[in-house]
Amino acid sequence: MAATTPRIAILGAGPIGLEAALYAQHLKLPFTIYEQGRVGEHVWRWGHVKLFSPFGMNATPLGRKAILAADSEHEFPGDDACISGREQVERYLKPLADILDGEIKTETRVINVARAGLYKQEGVGDVARGKQPFLLLVRERNQDRYEEADIVLDCTGTYSHHRWMGPSGIPALGETQVEPHIAYNLVDVLGDGKRDYINKSVLVVGAGYSAATTVSGFAKLAQEHDTTWITWVTRSSRTQPLKRIANDPLRERDRLAVAANNLATRADANVEFRGNTIVEAIEPQAGNQSFKIVLRTGGQRRTIEVDKIVANVGYTPDRAIYRELQVHECYASFGPMKLAAALSGSASSDCLTQVSHGSETLRNPEPNFYILGSKSYGRDSHFLLRIGFEQVRDVFTLITGKAGLDLYKS
Ligand SMILES: Cc1cc2nc3c(=O)[nH]c(=O)nc-3n(C[C@H](O)[C@H](O)[C@H](O)COP(=O)(O)OP(=O)(O)OC[C@H]3O[C@@H](n4cnc5c(N)ncnc54)[C@H](O)[C@@H]3O)c2cc1C
Repeated sequence: MAATTPRIAILGAGPIGLEAALYAQHLKLPFTIYEQGRVGEHVWRWGHVKLFSPFGMNATPLGRKAILAADSEHEFPGDDACISGREQVERYLKPLADILDGEIKTETRVINVARAGLYKQEGVGDVARGKQPFLLLVRERNQDRYEEADIVLDCTGTYSHHRWMGPSGIPALGETQVEPHIAYNLVDVLGDGKRDYINKSVLVVGAGYSAATTVSGFAKLAQEHDTTWITWVTRSSRTQPLKRIANDPLRERDRLAVAANNLATRADANVEFRGNTIVEAIEPQAGNQSFKIVLRTGGQRRTIEVDKIVANVGYTPDRAIYRELQVHECYASFGPMKLAAALSGSASSDCLTQVSHGSETLRNPEPNFYILGSKSYGRDSHFLLRIGFEQVRDVFTLITGKAGLDLYKS
C-alpha cells in the first residue's frame, strides 16, 4: 500500500461494487461509490426475474455479518431460496448499502476515467504513471465535474449496453433508427409492462435464458389474452432454442430451459419458433406503432409484421469509460486480457464450474485500475456473483500487498 492511504473510487453500486466497498470499509480504506441510478440499479431493472443461484451463493459471510451487526433482527432468505432480483436488492443489497460509511453518490454517472496529466499513449510501463491520481469525469443531474482517486474499481456491469440483433452482431437494417422502440432488456410482461403487450404480436429474438424468460412470460400472458402472439427467432439451427446443461444443478435454470423448449415445439401455444433465422431489416409502420421485419432463414427471406420487438441478444461492456487508460482488452470478449485468456483456457461452458482465476488475472497495464464483476467477463455470460465476491477478495490482496488476506474467512 502507498505511504498515504489511497482513495478508492468504486464505479457501480451493484452486488460487486457494494461488496468491494464493504471490504474497503473493513480495511479502513476510504472509498466513494458512484452509481448512475439507485443502489442495485441493474438488478432492480430485471428485478421481477428469479435468480437461478440460491441465496446461499449470492451473499458473503462478511456481508451477512455486517448487516446482522447493525440489525440483529434482520432476516435473510434461506440459503436454498431462489429469490427475485427485487428481493435480492431489498433483503441484501440495500441493507448492505445502509451500513457503508463511505460516500455513495447515487444518480451520478462516471463518464470517463483518465490519468491526471497524462494521455493514453504516455508513460507506457513507467512507474511514474502509476503515481499520478486518476481523473474522473462525473455527471450528476446534468452537471459535469472532475473528481480524483488513487485506485479505481470499475464494477459497472454490462446490462445498460445491449448488443444488436442483425447479422453477425451488427444492427439489422433500420435497427438503429427504431432502437428507442425496441426492448433490449427483460420486460416484466406479467407486471409493469403487461398493458403494452396484451393481445399484441411480438417478435422475440435470442437463444439464451433471458429470451426464454421473456417467451415464457408472453406465453402466460397469451393464456389470459389469447390474441397475444409471439414469433421467436434464433440464429442457431438447433431444433430447440435452449441448450440444456446435462444434470444441471441449478433446478430453476433447467426448469426454464425445459419450459421454453416446450413452448417452442408445442403446436398449441401462441409461440411460433424459427431457428436458423436472422433479422435482416426493420421498417417502422404508422409512427412506430408496428414494424415490418425481414427475416432470413438460410437463403429464404420472408416479411412479417409485428406490434412489438423484444431483443434479448446479450450485453456488452461500456469501454468508453476507460478509453484514455492503458487497458489491455481481449479482442474476442472485450474483457480485460489476462482474465479473458484464463477464461478461454477453462474447458467448461457451465458457469457453476467457473472458479476465480486469482489476483494476477485482475491486473492490466494501467496500475491500480481494475475491472471486476460481470463487466470483467466482457461478453462472456458465464459470470456468477460468487466469482465476483472472490474477485473482491483477490483485488484487495493486490491493493494491500497482503497475499493471504481473506476477510471472508476471518
Ligand atoms: C436476468 C439476470 C439474471 C441473473 N441471475 C444470476 C444468478 O442467478 N446468479 C448469479 O450469480 N448471477 C446472475 N446473473 C449475473 C450477474 O451476477 C448479475 O448480472 C449481477 O448483477 C452482476 O453484478 P455486478 O455488480 O457485476 O454488475 P451490475 O449488477 O450490472 O451492477 C453495475 C452497477 O453499475 C451501475 N453503472 C453502470 N454504468 C455506470 C456508470 N457509468 N457510472 C456509474 N454507475 C454505473 C449500474 O447502474 C449498476 O447498478 C444474472 C444476470 C441477469 C441479467
